[in-house]
Amino acid sequence: MATTIIQPGEIEPPVRKAPWLRLPERETLFARREERCKALAKRHPLEKYLQFLARVARAQQDTLNGYEKVALPDADWLRLSRQHGMPPLAIQNWRRDASWHEALRMIIGMVRDAAEPATTDSLARLLAAGEPAFESMADGLLTGDYAGLDLAAAPLVGAALQVYWVHMATSLGREAFACSAAPTLCPVCASPPLTSIVRNGGGENGQRYLHCSLCASEWHMVRTKCSNCQSTKDIAYHGIEGDLGAVKAETCDECKIYLKIMFIDHDPNIEPTVDDLTTLPLDILMDQAGFIRNSFSFYLIPAEEMPV
Ligand SMILES: [Zn+2]
Ligand SMILES: [Zn+2]
Repeated sequence: MATTIIQPGEIEPPVRKAPWLRLPERETLFARREERCKALAKRHPLEKYLQFLARVARAQQDTLNGYEKVALPDADWLRLSRQHGMPPLAIQNWRRDASWHEALRMIIGMVRDAAEPATTDSLARLLAAGEPAFESMADGLLTGDYAGLDLAAAPLVGAALQVYWVHMATSLGREAFACSAAPTLCPVCASPPLTSIVRNGGGENGQRYLHCSLCASEWHMVRTKCSNCQSTKDIAYHGIEGDLGAVKAETCDECKIYLKIMFIDHDPNIEPTVDDLTTLPLDILMDQAGFIRNSFSFYLIPAEEMPV
C-alpha cells in the first residue's frame, strides 16, 4: 500500500469558473455506466456481476429516456430550500411519487432473463409482494438500514430509485438548487457521497467533487477537507502499488472514515459507480487499516448493518 500525506493548500488549485454543482447528464449517465461495466468486465473477478450491471444500466437509461412527468417541488418549496440551504429532494422527507414503482417493474422486466437463479427468485418474490414491499425496501436502502433487506433484489430497487431521482433533478435543472447547509451531503437529495472525483478540463482543472450515491449529482469540496467531519488535519491518500493510480482511498485520522477519490486525469473513462465496485481490494485494505466506509453502493451492500 502506498500512502501520501496531504498538506492543506498543497494541492488545491485556485477555483476559477468551476461550477459548484454538476447535475448528471441524463442522456448519457447510464449509457456510460453500461459501457464502463462492459469494458472492465473482461477477465475481472466480478465479470458476471459487471455484465449483469451493464444490462441494469441499459435498462435504467431506457427507463429514464421514457420517464413521464412526475410531481416536483413547487416554487415556494424550492425558494424555502434555497434560503435555508436544504436539499429540496431530500431522501428523508421527499414524498416519493408512485411512478418509481413502474420504473422498478420496467427495469426488472428488462433484466430478469440475465439474472442468477437466486436473484430471479428474489425478484419474483418482490414483485408478488408489491408496492408496500417496494416502499419498505426503498426506506431501508435510502436510510442505510440494511437489516432484513433482500440483498439480491436490493440493487434493482436502488437502480429504480436512481432513475427516479435523476429524472427529478434534471427536470428541475441546476438553478433550482443551492449550496447545502450540510456540505458533506448532496445539495439535491441529501444522500452521502459514494466517492469523490477530481475533474480536469475547463475551469474544473484539479477540482474535487463529491459524487452522490443516489442522484449522481456532484458538488464541489476542497481536496484537503475530510468529506465526513470536514477536518483539514491528517488527511492521507492510500493507493494500491503498481496500478494506474486512478482510484485512491482518502482517509481522515480524526473520524477514521475513508472515501475513495478518483482522478480523471489518470483515466478519463472513470465512471464512479463502476470504478467503485472494481476497486474492492482498496476497501479490504482500508478495513484492515481500521478505517470505516460511511456510504455504500446499492450494488454492493454489506451483509451486516451499516457501521456508523
Ligand atoms: Zn443526490
Ligand atoms: Zn473526518
